[in-house]
Amino acid sequence: MPALQTATPAWKTDELFLFEEEAAKFFSRELYPHVEKWREQGKVDRWAWEKAGEAGFLCASMPEEWGGAGGSFAHEQILIEQQVKAGVEGFGMGLHNCIVAPYILHYGTEEQKKRWLPRMATGELIGAIAMTEPGTGSDLQAVRTTALKDGNHYVVNGSKTFITNGQTANLIIVVAKTDPSEKAKGVSLMVVETDEAEGFRRGRNLKKLGNKAQDTSELFFDDVRIPRSNLLGTEEGQGFFQLMEQLPQERHQIACLAIAAIDRALELTIAYTKERHAFGRPIINFQNTQFKLAECKAKATMAKVFVDHCTGLLLEKKLDAATASMGKMLLTDLENEIIDECLQLFGGYGYMDEYPISRMYADARVQRIYGGTNEIMKLLIARTL
Ligand SMILES: Cc1cc2nc3c(=O)[nH]c(=O)nc-3n(C[C@H](O)[C@H](O)[C@H](O)COP(=O)(O)OP(=O)(O)OC[C@H]3O[C@@H](n4cnc5c(N)ncnc54)[C@H](O)[C@@H]3O)c2cc1C
Repeated sequence: MPALQTATPAWKTDELFLFEEEAAKFFSRELYPHVEKWREQGKVDRWAWEKAGEAGFLCASMPEEWGGAGGSFAHEQILIEQQVKAGVEGFGMGLHNCIVAPYILHYGTEEQKKRWLPRMATGELIGAIAMTEPGTGSDLQAVRTTALKDGNHYVVNGSKTFITNGQTANLIIVVAKTDPSEKAKGVSLMVVETDEAEGFRRGRNLKKLGNKAQDTSELFFDDVRIPRSNLLGTEEGQGFFQLMEQLPQERHQIACLAIAAIDRALELTIAYTKERHAFGRPIINFQNTQFKLAECKAKATMAKVFVDHCTGLLLEKKLDAATASMGKMLLTDLENEIIDECLQLFGGYGYMDEYPISRMYADARVQRIYGGTNEIMKLLIARTL
């Protein structure tokens, strides 16, 4: 049973409860048994993507006409919740479904949608988005990767780092300057299909503090020629505005991940404190344990209501950048705070890798960094003061 019991939000229909059951079965039966192997190898096996495609979970919120399952962000939130609940680490489906595919859906031409989305829905194409470079992360306008016209092609040059799904992705949206003399206005989104891209190279699968089963990679582009038709949309210089428009959903997805992790941490900790004995009684009988968990549950309940509210806004296309930034900042800060409190209640076992709470502690840290750091969230919120 989840630790958080909030009222069912209006957007959660009966159909979504059935979808939730299917997703729970899929993650726990099909993927969870392989997590240890994926942690050791630092990436998820390719077959997992294909299996998720067969089950109808890849591109769950893409329209059926483009090969998707015809759902909405509500389906994506449920997939995120169930993946976290089942302890399926490293599988970057949230990024593929909620970030990469929507760029193609919203800005791609008919031909581009037809070319890429159906193959993303089967798992033939695995998506990634490459914004960050060794020299720039938060200041996206300062990217140095270029995509310059040459006949019927663009020639892409530059390097990217910290790219999620970077070792496995074969469809990468690359943030590049088509006009290096401009700042935001010079940015375009280029779609690189890596299977046929000469001059494209993957660097190291980066060793990280957490998210051990997830591949995070350097990528190099040396005179990579891509057809002109791989500019996302029809016009150069739109990339920065496209990114700004899509970032609320990306940030909200991170908030959804955070509340799912909080819920799991509380569930695990409540169960543990009921079983573990010290001084002749279960540790949940100590008032300190009860008070700590009560505080965590109260904060988490309030946060869950806010996340569900933001999902409602997103579904009505009303989630603005500042509200999404508030969610991303508050939820990821709270995730770190609550998991830290929970880990303490596990005592020494909380520090052991075989206990999920220890992994969750390590995994939570990056949530305050990627998708725009929490400091950048404050800048965005402050603009509305
Ligand atoms: C595991 C992982 C996965 C990632 N996945 C992806 C991915 O798939 N695709 C992708 O493109 N990127 C990805 N990133 C990169 C991530 O988005 C960046 O690390 C992040 O945006 C911060 O950029 P930076 O690392 O260059 O830090 P910097 O921008 O150098 O920031 C350093 C510090 O300065 C602060 N700072 C910067 N500017 C300001 C300011 N104006 N005011 C106040 N403080 C400021 C920051 O908040 C931070 O604390 C990933 C990162 C990690 C760790």
